[in-house]
Amino acid sequence: MEVQADVSSWTAAGHRPPCLRVILVGDHPASASYVRGKRKAAAEVGIDSETLRRPDTITQDELLALIGELNADDAVDGILVQLPLPEHIDADAVIEAVDPAKDVDGFHPENTGRLFIGAPRFIPATPFGIMELLRRSDVVIEGAEAVVVGRSNIVGKPIASLLGQRDANATVTLCHSRTRDLALHTRRADILIAAVGRPNLITAEMVKTGVTVIDVGINRVDDASRERGYRLVGDVDFEQVAPKAARITPVPGGVGPMTIAMLLRNTLTAAQTSPVAT
Ligand code: NDP
Repeated sequence: MEVQADVSSWTAAGHRPPCLRVILVGDHPASASYVRGKRKAAAEVGIDSETLRRPDTITQDELLALIGELNADDAVDGILVQLPLPEHIDADAVIEAVDPAKDVDGFHPENTGRLFIGAPRFIPATPFGIMELLRRSDVVIEGAEAVVVGRSNIVGKPIASLLGQRDANATVTLCHSRTRDLALHTRRADILIAAVGRPNLITAEMVKTGVTVIDVGINRVDDASRERGYRLVGDVDFEQVAPKAARITPVPGGVGPMTIAMLLRNTLTAAQTSPVAT
């Protein structure tokens, strides 16, 4: 993996390994599984990563104090607060508490703003991974009709912004739950990004032949044939859409691994750009 080689070069030059601290509040099973995946991947590439687990009874002030400690710790390069947080905690206040220079998730408004004006510091891992997938697959982005379905702050809005920047030059349409005729837009797409969280929302009739499909959705659907009782599917009806598509990402296995790789890339960048790097 490229990040691994770059971490090796960084440490071979005499620097300590990049240091990531992940805060996990509560015992949300999907969050715990994502955090395990991130930790394992970090260890594989030589990033020092630790998960700080806190019970879901933690108060907002206690969580903010923990973030303050990590902000002040020169040995910590990257801080990630796994979302979602319990309802009694204001997620925006938590996101804004993270030092923007350590915000490897790229969710702090300062980093969001930088991305929006085309001068990004940390690009949120999922949109970053999508751009890498598109570029590495030689998808023509310039001049393409790119349709993004879903407008979350962590996926939909940033990927729409990235695709429309001057170094990408797609013509972008951003759809959401109030879009009047979703299929009207998705059928025009050369590049279709689905980031909704609804299994099989995108059907074969909704895409044109030759489309490039990036399926971000991760949905659990009941499956009695599986030991765990469910399987993971995306937002796109893969079986029906794949024959029409020039390229399509599977779920699981498409965007997910790229997302983790980009988080690690951001952590290395945080170490390399830290004013107190050692
Ligand atoms: P959110 O739940 O925050 O937002 C969903 C978006 O979909 C909203 O903008 C909503 O519109 C829109 N939407 C809902 N229903 C429809 C509909 N019928 N037609 C059109 N738009 C609709 O989404 P996230 O971005 O956080 O997550 C989306 C999916 O991606 C989830 O399955 C999540 O698990 C997955 N995910 C995967 C990642 C990965 O690494 N692969 C990383 C992050 C998320 P409105 O704004 O109007 O409510």
